[in-house]
Amino acid sequence: MRESIEAGAATLSGTANRMTAIHDGGRGARLGPWVNRLKRARFVLIVAAAVFAVLWESGTLATQPALASFAIIAVAVLIRAASRESARQTPPRDDSPALRVGDPLVEAVLAGLPDPVVALDRHGDVVALNARASAMAPALRRGEPVSLALRVPEVLDSIRRAIATGSPQRVEFFERVPVDRWFEAIVTPIALAGTASPGLVLVAFHDLTPLRRVEEMRADFIANASHELRTPLAALAGFIETLQGSARDDTAARLRFLPIMQAQATRMARLIDDLLSLSRIELNAHLRPDKQVDLVAIMRQVADSLQTLARDRGVEISVKAAADRLLVLGDRDELMRVFENLIENALKYAASGKKIDIALSIGDGTKSAREASVRVRDYGPGIAPEHLPRLTERFYRVDVTESRAQGGTGLGLALVKHILNRHGGRLTIESTAGQGATFTAHLPVAGPAENMNLQASASG
Ligand code: ADP
Repeated sequence: MRESIEAGAATLSGTANRMTAIHDGGRGARLGPWVNRLKRARFVLIVAAAVFAVLWESGTLATQPALASFAIIAVAVLIRAASRESARQTPPRDDSPALRVGDPLVEAVLAGLPDPVVALDRHGDVVALNARASAMAPALRRGEPVSLALRVPEVLDSIRRAIATGSPQRVEFFERVPVDRWFEAIVTPIALAGTASPGLVLVAFHDLTPLRRVEEMRADFIANASHELRTPLAALAGFIETLQGSARDDTAARLRFLPIMQAQATRMARLIDDLLSLSRIELNAHLRPDKQVDLVAIMRQVADSLQTLARDRGVEISVKAAADRLLVLGDRDELMRVFENLIENALKYAASGKKIDIALSIGDGTKSAREASVRVRDYGPGIAPEHLPRLTERFYRVDVTESRAQGGTGLGLALVKHILNRHGGRLTIESTAGQGATFTAHLPVAGPAENMNLQASASG
């Protein structure tokens, strides 16, 4: 493209061409000092271009912010060069600027970068660094060898390689102290004009920890989900094999096995159902439900539907509401799922307490906004404090065998938490071992008008 523009310019001829040349000569004279300034500032511009290219390449900066930031730095550099000339009134030098420790321009470029960045000379001594780099490695000092402060062999090796070969290096490393963190270091050697060997080496660090955590969580999740599915599947395959083989004509065995097989198939179906629900809720996590629903009606319907199970387990469920209606903006099916999970858990793990008290009320939330609270209190064995913060993690159970025996998937409370989050609410859990547990769903109330109605009917 540039070639064709130049070729086009070269074809100009005759008078018009001469006129243009004269005209251009005037513009050229005016442009001359700026071209010189550009030449002298090329060192800083190359550094800035390299840094922004690295950040753009690594995905830290988008194209437009990268170009805009580079343009701002370029203009600043040129203006500074111009003001220096007028102050000194000395003819511009043609050689490239020497690399000085703590050069304000290099420092200014590094200070504007979002990641920790250190600039080194070709001996590996620190020339400049930004505040983020100081925070990451407080022992780094300008004028001192980087190897004194940065004791990461992988990074030091890649700096040596970059200086020796003149080619960029990328290395990942792991820090244990003070907490586990993963980083990548991108080492970019920059050859100053007219020299073959690198005059400057930029080391940019990028924190990979959040990315790694997500990767680990995804891998754990897939491993857990596969394991949960494989167990009932293996049981089903085993029973089928037995029924096809040794128990082919054994009616008693068939009658014994079939209900177990059905329970395993049901468990698999429930697990897949819970997994799909979780992913659907996560997909809609940013969309707050906008329909008004009545928590009292939803809770009564759920409690009624679980009466048979409660009777089977010898548990009495009581529902008390502070008002006839408790309106929130919500998704009816999702809120039914929340209450079902909480009451089913109480029936599964706390049937020994013989009763479940459910209370619906309205009060001040954490941020003094009005909120509705739905409390499900059981009188079972309770939960030891060390388990409480982890109960809403996917597949976390206090007792895996008991959960499986009760048909649990380990996803119930994770679903509850995600649904409440989507509604702008939260789940709180209180328990003392041996004295039962209280799970409370907090939800913001629908609006000031409904709020007033509720208060009126609650006090009436
Ligand atoms: P699950 O499918 O195993 O029930 P949940 O996410 O619903 O999964 O619950 C996680 C774990 O929390 C359960 O396995 C159980 O150990 C514990 N738990 C939940 N509710 C209660 C409760 N009311 N009393 C005692 N333990 C409970």
